[in-house]
Amino acid sequence: MLLDISRLRTVVVDVNRRVEPEAFADLTDEFKVVGPTDVTGTVRREKGTHVVLHSRVTSAMEVTCGRCLEPYVVPVGADVETRFVPPAEFAKVTAETAAKAGLLTAGAVAVDDDEEDVEPVAEGHVVGLAEYRDEAIDLGDVIREQLYLALPMKPLCQESCKGLCRVCGANRNRETCQCQHQWEDPRMAALAEWKSRNEKT
Ligand SMILES: [Zn+2]
Ligand SMILES: [Zn+2]
Repeated sequence: MLLDISRLRTVVVDVNRRVEPEAFADLTDEFKVVGPTDVTGTVRREKGTHVVLHSRVTSAMEVTCGRCLEPYVVPVGADVETRFVPPAEFAKVTAETAAKAGLLTAGAVAVDDDEEDVEPVAEGHVVGLAEYRDEAIDLGDVIREQLYLALPMKPLCQESCKGLCRVCGANRNRETCQCQHQWEDPRMAALAEWKSRNEKT
């Protein structure tokens, strides 16, 4: 999944890569990539050593529903802007980026009522900073990052998932079991038992 940048110049070059799910077989986390992953966009060189990749990452992953424990597919689709720099410059660029972000925040506070100056960041648009080595950028890392970002915090196959029956373990989305789900007040149970005992005597 390496993209050769040795011949890349300031001219914008198209990126169009398809990665088969087998490439992510090593990811044994709480998800599994299903179907091909596409990275489409552009790449170009900036300031001599920087490489800027604008891409759209589309994929699909299978996760397990937290309620019914059935697998379901989550689509992945994100617009990513990644600035790649050589390892020797990484620390410096990181510091510069942080300083610029700090200035922007301070500026935004200073010109609070001048809302036009504040550029809204498009939703789902991720801006990142990464290293490249040996004149190649690793698209695999770009994809992996997006997979992790798309991972739902509370995976649910559907908002209304009924989950598993706590008594018999049946998937309540598919079958209706006869188990008692209402919470019974233990005091009422004790009272009922006391009553039945009294009736017998
Ligand atoms: Zn479910
Ligand atoms: Zn049941």
